[in-house]
Amino acid sequence: MNVLDLARPEIRVMQAYSSARMESAGGQLMLNANESAWAPVGDTGQGCNRYPDPQPVALLDALALLYGVRREQLLVGRGSDEAIDLLVRAFCRAGEDAILIQPPTFGMYAVCARIQNAGVVEVPLGDDFALDVDAVLAAVTPAVKLVFVCRPNNPAGQDVSRADIERLAQTLSGRALVVVDEAYVEFADEGSVADLIDQYDNLAVLRTLSKAWALAGARIGSLLASAEVVALLRRIMPPYPLPQPCVDAALIALSGWGQANVRQRLAIVRKQRKLIGEQLSRLPGVREVLPSQANFLTVRFEDADDAGRRLEAAGIVVRDVRRHPRLGDALRITLGTPEENARVIGALKRPLLRGRRTADGAIPGKCA
Ligand SMILES: *Cc1c(COP(=O)(O)O)cnc(C)c1O
Repeated sequence: MNVLDLARPEIRVMQAYSSARMESAGGQLMLNANESAWAPVGDTGQGCNRYPDPQPVALLDALALLYGVRREQLLVGRGSDEAIDLLVRAFCRAGEDAILIQPPTFGMYAVCARIQNAGVVEVPLGDDFALDVDAVLAAVTPAVKLVFVCRPNNPAGQDVSRADIERLAQTLSGRALVVVDEAYVEFADEGSVADLIDQYDNLAVLRTLSKAWALAGARIGSLLASAEVVALLRRIMPPYPLPQPCVDAALIALSGWGQANVRQRLAIVRKQRKLIGEQLSRLPGVREVLPSQANFLTVRFEDADDAGRRLEAAGIVVRDVRRHPRLGDALRITLGTPEENARVIGALKRPLLRGRRTADGAIPGKCA
C-alpha cells in the first residue's frame, strides 16, 4: 500500500494551478504575469515587483542539508502552521475522517481539523506528560488519517523517544500518517527523527525557523516527508507561498555565520533553562516546574492568578496555559535573555505592592 492511498481521492486526481512563474523557465523578458516592470521604492535588489519562486532551490537545498533529507522530501511553507493545514486538507475528508492528538498539546492541529470539519480523537498524555503509545495505537480507527506527535511537547515540555515514534510509524504503516512536530527539537537532548522518513513512508516531520532560528517574523517552516506526500501537498499549496524578503532572511540565517550564531544562543537557552528552572522551583508558591526540553518552562503555581498579576505588574507577559487538561494551575514562561529571565524571577519574588505596607509602615508608591 502506498501512503497516498490515505489521502483524499479527489485531491489525488486534482489538477494543480499552473502559475505564470512556473511556466516562465528560461525567459528573459517577463511579460506573462502582469507584474510591474519597475521595482518598488526602497527595493534593494530583491526584485519584489516580481512574483517569487514558489520553492526557491537555494532555500530548499540549504534546508535539505540542514535537516538531512533530499530536496524532493522537503516542502517549505509559511511556517509549519501552513504544513499542518495542508496535511489536514489533503488527508481528511470533511465530515468523515479524523486526526489524533495527545492533549495537552499545540492548539493548531485541532483548529485545522475543525476548519476542515474533520474529527479530533484525543488520547491524553500519561503520567509525567509522557506519550502512551499503546493508548494511541488502540485509539486509531479507520477514520484517523493523521496522528500528530509534538516533540518536545508544547506546552508540557517533555520529549518522546525515537523508539516510540518508530513503533507508531511501523504499526500504523498503511493506516495513518504519523506527523512529528519538531518545532523545539533544536533545544532538546535527542535529535530529529527525520532520517526515519526513508524507512517509513507514513512518517512526516515538521521543522521551523520560528523558534531556535529566530525567524518567527519571516514565517518559514518545513515539512519533511516522502517525495509523494510532498508532491501532493505542493499541488494544493497556494502558488506563491514564500515572500522574497523572507527567503532572503532565511538564507542569511542558514549561512555559516548564521548557524554559528544560532549554536551560541542555543547553548545560552539550554543553560538558562536549567538555572532558571532551579531558581523557579525554589520560589515560594511554585508547585512544580515541569521538566522541559524546549525553550520555555511551564510552571505550576499554588495561585497562578497571583503569579500572573506579579508578572503583569512588572510588565512581563507569559502564556496562560490553564485551559489545558492537567495544567489548570500553570503558566508557560518563554526563556529570554539571561537579564530578562532574571526579571521574571525578581517579579515573582517581590510581594505585590497593592495595599501592602513596607517595614516602616509606608504604603509603597504613595508620597509621604
Ligand atoms: C510555534 C509552534 C509551531 C509553529 O511554527 P511556525 O513555523 O511559526 O508556524 C508549530 N508547532 C509547535 C508545537 C509550536 O509550538
